[in-house]
Amino acid sequence: MRLHVLGSSGGYSAADNPSSGFLLEQGATRLWMDAGHSTFAALQRVADFKRLDALVLSHLHPDHCADLYAAHVALRYRVEGPLRLPLYGPPGTLEALGNLLGADGAANLGETFPFRAVNEGDTVEVGGIRLSFLRTDHPGITHAIRAESRNGTLTYSADTGPKADLAGFAQESDFLLCEATYQEGKVGAPVHLTARQAGETALRAGVRELAVTHVWPTFDPQVSLAEARSAAGGIPVRWAQPGEVFFFSQAED
Ligand SMILES: [Zn+2]
Ligand SMILES: [Zn+2]
Repeated sequence: MRLHVLGSSGGYSAADNPSSGFLLEQGATRLWMDAGHSTFAALQRVADFKRLDALVLSHLHPDHCADLYAAHVALRYRVEGPLRLPLYGPPGTLEALGNLLGADGAANLGETFPFRAVNEGDTVEVGGIRLSFLRTDHPGITHAIRAESRNGTLTYSADTGPKADLAGFAQESDFLLCEATYQEGKVGAPVHLTARQAGETALRAGVRELAVTHVWPTFDPQVSLAEARSAAGGIPVRWAQPGEVFFFSQAED
């Protein structure tokens, strides 16, 4: 499996880093996970947007979904004819995002994005990838996403505070993509994790590899990396730098 980092900036886009968005590839299946600001542009550098299999949104904060509007225009008003892209997200996604497009907004979005609401406990199959969801500790309905294929397992924390059982949900994943918004002594509202907490989560979950993401744009990611490593018990830790491609595969028993 292969994960492209389209952007990883926490909360808002930085000058050189879009907000949260990732492209997960498994065989011929291409899954766009989160559509934060500027991620549709980044996506076009690594994939043909006409050939995506689905878009999955963890939650409806703009730094995770704003570029759905860009994709909507690209797909619906394509001069060669409109295209559709299956969409998975929290209940009420089309209504919430459609409001900005006027009275018919939800219906218009629904034509471009055949929508299925997902809840904790649901499973969804997209090509060769099976998705499951955990409600996290974050305002609004927010889901961590576990993506499994015959070749490996990735868990993405989405946004979460420390009260969700992310370690249980991510148990023995090959790859944990974990938010690490804060650093020691630099902590805001308790709806996010520190880098140290991301490292602790990886250790408790027994994952093979950790990438920290959603680092606050004014922080030095190298500090986040060091803090996560100090708590991860030797698990390899990297930063989900924009443009990075992570390859991972199933552990061999
Ligand atoms: Zn966020
Ligand atoms: Zn959020």
